[in-house]
Amino acid sequence: PYVVTELCIKCKYMDCVEVCPVDCFYEGENMLVIHPDECIDCGVCEPECPAEAIVPDTDPKAEPWLELNREYSTNW
Ligand code: SF4
Repeated sequence: PYVVTELCIKCKYMDCVEVCPVDCFYEGENMLVIHPDECIDCGVCEPECPAEAIVPDTDPKAEPWLELNREYSTNW
């Protein structure tokens, strides 16, 4: 899946949410997150993010954020 990283914090843009075909963005504490089981890896959100906060899970930057994306998107 794609993963939202710390660059999202305080970013006010929601462009990523609008383009996601499966609506797998959720609101975390102070950032958006992607539900890792719902993301279909289409990649359309990545270029939409002005903060460049969205990365594929193969990117080393994603690793520390993957569990938090899962936690925030599944705990309600
Ligand atoms: Fe949604 Fe596609 Fe981005 Fe996954 S990669 S969060 S499915 S827009």
